[in-house]
Amino acid sequence: MMMQVHPIRALSTNYIWTLCTTDQTIVVDPGEAKPISDFLSSKRRNCDAILVTHHHQDHTGGIRQLQKHYPQCQVYGPYLQHLDNTYHDISKLKEKKIPQLKQKIAIIHTPGHTQDHLCYYIDGKLFCGDTLFSVGCGRLLEGSAESLYHALETIKKLPRDTILYPAHEYTLDNIRFALTIEPENEALIAHKKQVEMLCKEDKPSLPTSLELELNINPFLRADVKNVQQRVAKLIDTNTLTALETFTALRKLKDQFQ
Ligand SMILES: [Zn+2]
Repeated sequence: MMMQVHPIRALSTNYIWTLCTTDQTIVVDPGEAKPISDFLSSKRRNCDAILVTHHHQDHTGGIRQLQKHYPQCQVYGPYLQHLDNTYHDISKLKEKKIPQLKQKIAIIHTPGHTQDHLCYYIDGKLFCGDTLFSVGCGRLLEGSAESLYHALETIKKLPRDTILYPAHEYTLDNIRFALTIEPENEALIAHKKQVEMLCKEDKPSLPTSLELELNINPFLRADVKNVQQRVAKLIDTNTLTALETFTALRKLKDQFQ
């Protein structure tokens, strides 16, 4: 059967993506345990495995409690301190086959938001944590703009129909910023309307697709002439390379209210 993916809301803006196969359940980035165990018990499921994209508390805070509740649960991710032998450090691998999934997991190293950040590509789906958001990207808390730029370039090379599962609902705020860069981007304007409707109905704006993001996400569009020229104007300079444009975009977004 097909793998189904459900969003579980957690903390203030997090989504814990939950992969359900016929008899296995894998959760990505459990920032807290309660909403997961509530969801799983309503479906009569166990938590069989956890995938972690990076060490931040809002992505890992529920691991210990889930492992208490589901003692067979195995955790896969970058190296985290204070975890026991059910934890598998997969940060040195390019792919990993885990017993809980039929498909192989392709591991994409995406330092930038944090140094340890990993994204997981499974069967046309990318679980991208805090590296890429809809219409935005992660803040540079540990890495350089250059490393995040290259991480996003790697993601851009995935098949265009890849479905993206970021870890936060930041879409509407990100769209407000993106419109200051590309006020005439018709796909962006149309998407804003759609997301506003979803928000009104209290529905997630995610997942998204690489195809859509390539058209509306300024952080994936630093190579587009219009975007480069607009950013150059905003920071009062003449010409910018794609990397310089990306770096300036990230700074502008950090200052954006
Ligand atoms: Zn984070």
